Formats: sequence, C-alpha cells, structure tokens
Amino acid sequence: MTTLLRELAGIAGDANVEAPVPRAALRDATEAQAYAGRADALVRPGSAEEVAALLAWCYRHDVPLTARGGGSGFAGGAAPEGGIVCSLERMRAVRALVPEGWRMHAEAGLATAHVHRLARENGLWFPPDPGAAEQSQLGGNIATNAGGPHAFKYGVTGDWVMGLEAVVAPGEMVRVGGPLRKDVAGYDLRGLLIGSEGTLGIVTAAWLRLIPAPEAALPVIGLYPDADAGAAAVQNALASGAIPAALEFLDAGALAAAAGLPVDGGSAGAGFAVLAEADGPLAGAQADRDTLAEALEDGALAVHAPAPEALWRWRSGVSHAVIAQRGGKLSEDVAVPVERLAEAVRGTVEIGERHGLQACSWGHAGDGNVHATFLLDPGDAAERGRAAAAAEELFDLALALGGTLSGEHGLGRLKAHRLKDQLDPATLALQRAVKDALDPKGLLNPGAKLRDARAA
Ligand SMILES: Cc1cc2nc3c(=O)[nH]c(=O)nc-3n(C[C@H](O)[C@H](O)[C@H](O)COP(=O)(O)OP(=O)(O)OC[C@H]3O[C@@H](n4cnc5c(N)ncnc54)[C@H](O)[C@@H]3O)c2cc1C
Repeated sequence: MTTLLRELAGIAGDANVEAPVPRAALRDATEAQAYAGRADALVRPGSAEEVAALLAWCYRHDVPLTARGGGSGFAGGAAPEGGIVCSLERMRAVRALVPEGWRMHAEAGLATAHVHRLARENGLWFPPDPGAAEQSQLGGNIATNAGGPHAFKYGVTGDWVMGLEAVVAPGEMVRVGGPLRKDVAGYDLRGLLIGSEGTLGIVTAAWLRLIPAPEAALPVIGLYPDADAGAAAVQNALASGAIPAALEFLDAGALAAAAGLPVDGGSAGAGFAVLAEADGPLAGAQADRDTLAEALEDGALAVHAPAPEALWRWRSGVSHAVIAQRGGKLSEDVAVPVERLAEAVRGTVEIGERHGLQACSWGHAGDGNVHATFLLDPGDAAERGRAAAAAEELFDLALALGGTLSGEHGLGRLKAHRLKDQLDPATLALQRAVKDALDPKGLLNPGAKLRDARAA
C-alpha cells in the first residue's frame, strides 16, 4: 500500500479507499457523449467529520478533491480532473423526520427517490423532482440546485433547503441555516453553497422543507403541428388564470423517439406536444385541468387527459429513448425567456443540420428551459467533435435570445469556459472573488463552474 492510500485509509478505513478508481466513479451522465475524468483515489467517508479530515488532508498536500453524488449530472461536474474523488454514498442517514414540523434532516448521500418516498409515507411532499431520482443524491441536487418538471410552480431544490451542514476549506465543518423556515442572520451562505457544484464546499447534510402532498394532480397534453403552434399554446396556458404545477414540451424529434404516448392514437402526426398539470384539492385541480385543457385547444391537433402515472412514466423515459436512437447524445439545458421558446426549439434543429447531426429538444416549457440535444454515436470521434461545436453555437443562440447557458444542470466542466460570455466582467470578477475566498487553493472541484474565468 502506498503512503497516499495508507493516509486516506487512516481517515475513512481500508474498505472505503480504492485505487485505481473504478471506471464508473470517473463519469456522469455525459458518458453518453463519451466524457470521462481521471483521479488517483476514491474515498467514501462515513461521516461529516471524515469529510472534514479528508479536505484538511487535501489542503495540507495540495491535492484536488471532487465531491461525487449519484453521477447523474449532465455537465461533467463529477468527472474529476485529478486528485481524489469523495463519494457521499455511505452518508445516507435520515437524522430527523418531523412530520408535524413539515421538515426532514438528512445526509447528502440519500437518494432523491428515498427523500420522496419518506415524505409521501408521512403524508408530505418534497416537490423538487429532477429525473434519475433513484440515482441522484440529495447532495448532488443541492450542489446543482436541480430543477425538474414541478419547479415551474414549486421552485428548484434550493427553495426547499432551510439549512446545510457542509465542509469548507481548509477542512472545517460549518452549519448554515437549520430547522428554521426563516433566518436572515448573517450573509446567505446557504444560498452561496446551493448550486456551487462542489467548488465552494462539500454538502454533508441538509434540513429540507416539506409540504402536504396535493390531493390530486391531473395532467393534460396538447398535440400541435409545429413548434410555433405549440409555443403559442404554452403562452395561452400561462394566460389562462390557472397555475400549472408543471408545463412541459417535446418537439417533433423527441416525440418520434419517445414512442408510446399513453393516449388514443399516440402522438402520430404531431410536431410538438405541451403537457400541463393541474394540482391541489380534487375539485380545484379538476377545475384548473379543464381551464388548462381549454387553453391548449387553440391550434391543437388533439388535447387529451391521460392517466397521471402512465404519462409521467412515459415522460421520465424520454431522455433514455432519445439516447437509444444512436447510442449517445449531447444534451444541454439552456433556458430562454418563455416567449422565445419556439426560436430556441427551431434553432436547435437548424444548428444540428448545419453540423450534420440529428437534433431535438424537450423540457420545461414554462421555465423556458430547453434540453437541446444532438444525437451521436459515442464511438465516432468526428461526430462527437461536431456535437461539441454545435453546442457552442447553441450557447450563442441562448445568449442572443436573452437566456442562460444552464437552467438546471450547472456548468460543470463542459460549459464553464462560456461563463465569461454570459456575465459582464465586474460580475465575473465577483464570482472569482467568492471562489478565492472560500477555496483559496482552488482544490475543490477544480475546472468546474469557473474555468478560465480568471483569464477572461
Ligand atoms: C435521465 C436524467 C434526467 C434528468 N433530469 C433532470 C431534471 O429534470 N432537472 C435537473 O435539474 N437535472 C436533471 N438531471 C441531471 C441530474 O440528475 C441532476 O443534476 C442531479 O441533481 C445530480 O445529482 P447527482 O447526485 O447525480 O450529482 P453528481 O452528478 O454526482 O454531481 C453533480 C455535481 O454536484 C457535485 N456534488 C455532488 N454531490 C455533492 C455534495 N454532497 N457536495 C458538494 N458537491 C456535490 C459534483 O461535484 C458535481 O459537480 C437528469 C439526469 C438524468 C440522467
């Protein structure tokens, strides 16, 4: 055993240190575009104290440390650039569940689906619902400030985090917020750590806010000939007076890939779909569902009210159905003002055509959040190169439409170089100052989120 491994084993125990690092721990969902990182060792701490000791060791020896959740991220953030991978997988305890206080205190390694199940079993609900819920972890959701379909009405993960326990440089445990619904003492360090993609600290536990689950959730889906008609329907739904819990879309390519829409006649002949869900007490949800259905009628080929479980099961399979077309994909998550949705959707296909790639998109229409996707064969290096070039053009388009490089996946390693194109120099300098203040040696997930920002 080398000195490195012996010292790491002294922190987390022999059984929880691995070198060489298993292949899966160097990758995330960008594996579908053949992206991978490298690292010298994988450590699985069992407590926040062990995470603190690990970061202290890294700070003493100038070794990079990359936190790893479920590896379902779409930006290469958990694909390390050397050093050590800190997997939170052993830290999945529920420290407290207080149904009468509508809250939960859980460790970062708990799977998202487990958080959902526990809340439901206690008559409550944790609304943030990014896909890959069995794989992703609470800490990864917090680190990316993940969204999901119901973020439209209920907000993103950070809106449901009351407090965090985290480990920051040079190896200190801190607690920001707590089991409190309100707390404005001090600066909002909770907000700073949320969405920081492991570059400012490692989240070890969180206090989550829960709410009673709505009695009913009733979806409707409208099918349209093209993106213009579909985007107009999205605007109609927004103007209808009902507040949709979710407002999603799929374009022609995504609909063709995700066959089996659970309604009579499927999606045959449609070039765009808009899915809206009404929720709340049964009578209110039914009334809102009818209002949304009426709003979706204009310009529609058909409007259906499918069974919720079947529809959401179909919706959660879209990403994998698209991958299955050619074996791989490069999928982005740009967001634009909602009235520019059709331009982003059409633009994605046009960019794909210019680079000789099949392209499609789907996503969170109400949030203007577009999973713009270029299909590829992961074994074809030339095609991967064309997809990367197409993504750069897509970022240009999103920014030209007044949008952002990332609505929910974060910048990771694959988009960090473009932050300078979205932010003005003064804001970029402020971002750099935050990183330097919290991670002066730049050892926390180096290369992610702020790459090249200093040179910009
Ligand atoms: C099929 C599919 C559908 C998806 N749908 C959505 C969606 O609807 N909305 C959405 O927002 N995302 C979606 N995602 C992306 C992804 O699931 C989310 O970003 C998820 O929250 C990432 O969690 P993870 O535990 O897998 O994180 P990882 O991929 O392991 O890590 C992501 C980033 O967080 C950092 N990190 C992880 N854990 C910690 C920690 N404890 N402390 C500090 N930093 C940490 C990592 O270093 C990395 O930078 C989807 C992914 C897939 C594969």
